[in-house]
Amino acid sequence: DHFKPINDDGGHGLGDAMLIKVSQAMAEVFRRGDHLARPGGDEFAVILDNCSLENGRKLAERLRAAIAQRRVVANDRAYAVTISLGMTEIRPGDHDRAEVIRRADDASYRAKREGRNRLEFFSESMSSEVTRQLDLENQLRRALKENQFRLFYQPLVNAERDIVGAETLIRWEHPEQGMVPPADFLDVLESSGQIVEVGNWVIETAFKQLLQWIEQGLWDSNFKLCINISPRQFHDRQFAEKINTQLQRIKVPHESIIMEVTEHNIIHNIDDAILRMRELIRYGISFSLDDFGTGYSSLSHLKNLPVSHIKIDRSFVKDICDDPGDQAMIASILALSRHLGLEVVAEGVEGVEQFEMLKRYDCQYYQGYYFSKPLSDRDMTCYLRAADPAA
Ligand code: C2E
Ligand code: CA
Ligand code: CA
Repeated sequence: DHFKPINDDGGHGLGDAMLIKVSQAMAEVFRRGDHLARPGGDEFAVILDNCSLENGRKLAERLRAAIAQRRVVANDRAYAVTISLGMTEIRPGDHDRAEVIRRADDASYRAKREGRNRLEFFSESMSSEVTRQLDLENQLRRALKENQFRLFYQPLVNAERDIVGAETLIRWEHPEQGMVPPADFLDVLESSGQIVEVGNWVIETAFKQLLQWIEQGLWDSNFKLCINISPRQFHDRQFAEKINTQLQRIKVPHESIIMEVTEHNIIHNIDDAILRMRELIRYGISFSLDDFGTGYSSLSHLKNLPVSHIKIDRSFVKDICDDPGDQAMIASILALSRHLGLEVVAEGVEGVEQFEMLKRYDCQYYQGYYFSKPLSDRDMTCYLRAADPAA
């Protein structure tokens, strides 16, 4: 449970110690003749031969309890280790190994969702959840082919409320359900890997739109277009190459492009991420660290990352007027950013009070419903036209 953040925060020494503890406990609980494996970084698999479901449950519970009692000591701290277990029965006629592993996997996934440090059995109703996911995957595949995705644009403004750019946000115009927000389908795109193709569509569409605004005289050369890049997309081996191909085909000024990545996106392999970013920075593209302040120990990474912007997560902006903690947080993010030469965007600005407060702390850029909701391409064109004093 929570292995990745522990591994990242505590260093690989701590991660290794935890993995060793878990495997030692497994060796104690299971018998000769059982098959133990570690198919992934933080995943273990066991096949219990000739074992009833009830006995399997007892063994799994014993393992869970044994591990939960242990502490791993590292960096002068004792860390608790817990595991989430999923179990399925191998039945006569189960010839598809991948299918058996999938059932166990689905069950362990549910154990995590139900609060971790527990055991779950695979059940057929879970399999209907899996069917639903597969169904969604198929629908999304069709959505791409039938051109049902839309890009919306949310303006970015400065302290004078002048437009300085926009962020692109994907929507799915479902034939029956209408406009579906990304929260309802991004996870499936990501886990199925379809995000690589859809992300490429986003980039191509955004570049074409940008070019059109430039040709219409609506896009100032200083404006930035910010494009969200998902983890899977960013770590795709051909990512830089794909961007380069698009840049060759669609002649947008490279300096207008900012790619938004989250810390979560890069934290697991920071050196690789930095190399990737540098590759694109060489073309003139810049990076923004999205959802800043959520989840990880952000500040320590910041000075090593070749980002030029950070976006303060809207959870801090939300309560900035009432919560002194959030105020202090924003004040120190802004002070530190100034020190490091980074520009800051505050997202989720919904009211004038938040805007005034952020201005007092010298935030450079703002985004939120207070200025504008995300707009369709046509509405954004109108917005740009209205904002252009020459038009
Ligand atoms: P995000 O990058 O943090 O984007 C900002 C989200 O906040 C957007 O939600 C936007 O509509 C919403 N928002 C903007 N101003 C306000 C405000 O004042 N108040 C509140 N409550 N919300 C505001 P949206 O469009 O639903 O997108 C959700 C997330 O989906 C995005 O979060 C981003 O992580 C992801 N996403 C969107 N488009 C893409 C895409 O093309 N590719 C990838 N990989 N991810 C995307
Ligand atoms: Ca974003
Ligand atoms: Ca964000």
